Amino acid sequence: MPKPRPKIATDPIDALLSAHGLRRTVAGRRVLGWFLAHPDTSLTHAQLQSALQNETPDGADALALDRVTLYRLIDRLTQVGLLLCRVDSQRVRRFQSMPESVHTLPHFECQNCHRDQPLVGALSADAHDLELAAHNALRALQALGYQGLSLDVAVRGVCADCASATAILPTPPSLPLM
Ligand SMILES: [Zn+2]
Repeated sequence: MPKPRPKIATDPIDALLSAHGLRRTVAGRRVLGWFLAHPDTSLTHAQLQSALQNETPDGADALALDRVTLYRLIDRLTQVGLLLCRVDSQRVRRFQSMPESVHTLPHFECQNCHRDQPLVGALSADAHDLELAAHNALRALQALGYQGLSLDVAVRGVCADCASATAILPTPPSLPLM
């Protein structure tokens, strides 16, 4: 027998917050709304704070959020899998919206120029395999009762641009000269 359906929130952002067990606060709507409106942007806490202060939707009051509240909110959104958190090579946490269909976004962090680039294009079909494998792993854990799962695949190394730039320099001898 089907369970009675809870009252459906009409606003998609409200619906997402409810579906993930979060309160539909003004701050929650604004923060999640901002990330969903800028799906390709990843921001640090501080960058998000100033973005929210500078960008006010029509008819809304400027959102005055203190740091602690904002940090807690972002952590909560990340825990429930609505935001994706990455730590870049300088140990700064950056957040972006979690794409509905994508559970992992393989990306590459160059240890030389510190660019962070998505690998989906470079890996083409293999990136899909990676995504599928991650999806299956998360599903298996969910079946065991794990909750609020997210997964991040980061490949670290030296990007092709940096590698070819270094190749111009004389290569050190591979054996010590004694
Ligand atoms: Zn590089």
